[in-house]
Amino acid sequence: MKTFVIANQKGGVGKTTTVMNLGAALANKKKKVLVIDLDPQSNLSSGLGFTQQFDKQSWNSTDEAPYKSIYDVLVGGDSISSVFVTTSTPNLFLVPSHLSLAGAEIEMVNMISRETLLKNKLKEITEEYDYVLIDCPPSLGLLTINALTAAERLIIPIQCEYFALEGLGQLIETTKLIRGVNPSLKIGGVVLTMYDSRTKLSESVVKDVKEFFKDVAFESVVPRNVRLSESPSHGKTIFQYDDKSTGAMAYSKLANEFIKRFED
Ligand code: ADP
Ligand code: MG
Repeated sequence: MKTFVIANQKGGVGKTTTVMNLGAALANKKKKVLVIDLDPQSNLSSGLGFTQQFDKQSWNSTDEAPYKSIYDVLVGGDSISSVFVTTSTPNLFLVPSHLSLAGAEIEMVNMISRETLLKNKLKEITEEYDYVLIDCPPSLGLLTINALTAAERLIIPIQCEYFALEGLGQLIETTKLIRGVNPSLKIGGVVLTMYDSRTKLSESVVKDVKEFFKDVAFESVVPRNVRLSESPSHGKTIFQYDDKSTGAMAYSKLANEFIKRFED
C-alpha cells in the first residue's frame, strides 16, 4: 500500500480535483484506491456523489452527524474499515469528511500522539489498497500535519498562476520538520494544474516549476478545462462526466506516470 498526501496550503489550486480524478484514473486502471477527505469543507466527498450530509433538511452542525466520517476515526477512535464507503467508480473507495472536522483540530490538541492519529489508523489497513490518497484542507494545521505524518510521499498541486510558487517554501519547511516524526516522507511529485495555453503566464510558471523541482514535476500538465469544474456538482468523476475531455485525458496520463514512477 502506497500512501500519498496531496497538500498545498493555498486554496483553489486543484488538490481536491486531483485526488478525485487521479484516484478515479488509477481505479480505472485496476488499482484498488482509497481516497480520504481530510477537509471539513468535504468537497471531495460531495464531488464523489456522497451527499448523505444533505439528506436531512433539518440537520445542522450541532446535531449528531447522520453518518460516520474521518472525524470519527481521528477523534472517536473508529477504524477506517468501519467508516469507508464505496463510490460509483469500481475499485474507488472514500473515507468521507464532515463539517464537525472543523472543530477537530482543537479537540485533537490535547490528545496523546495527536500528530500520528491518522498514521496509526492507516496501519490497520496496510494490505488492503494499492494506493491511498489523502486530500488536505488549505492550511498547515493539525489535519494536514496528520496527513504528512501518515504518508510516504507528498504530491503538491501547483496552479499555473501568478504567485504560484509563493508559500511553497513554508510547505517544504513543514515537510522537513515532519521528517522528525516521519523520516520516510519524500516529495513524490508536483502536478501543474489549470494550465491555460492562451497565456504566457502559464507557460512561464511551468518553466519555473520544472526548473525549481526538476524531475519531481510530472510531465502531464492538467489544462484549465471547464468539464473538470462541472463534474463535481453532478457527483461524478471526470471519467463519468466527460471521458473525452482534455481534463480526463490529462488525469489518465498522470495516472500512467504515477504508476510508472511508484511501481517501477
Ligand atoms: P483545492 O482543493 O486546492 O482548494 P479544487 O480542486 O477544489 O482546489 O479546485 C478549485 C476550483 O477550481 C474548483 O471549483 C475546481 O472545480 C476548479 N478546478 C480545479 N482544477 C481545474 C482545472 N484543471 N480546470 C478548470 N477548473 C478547475
Ligand atoms: Mg479542496
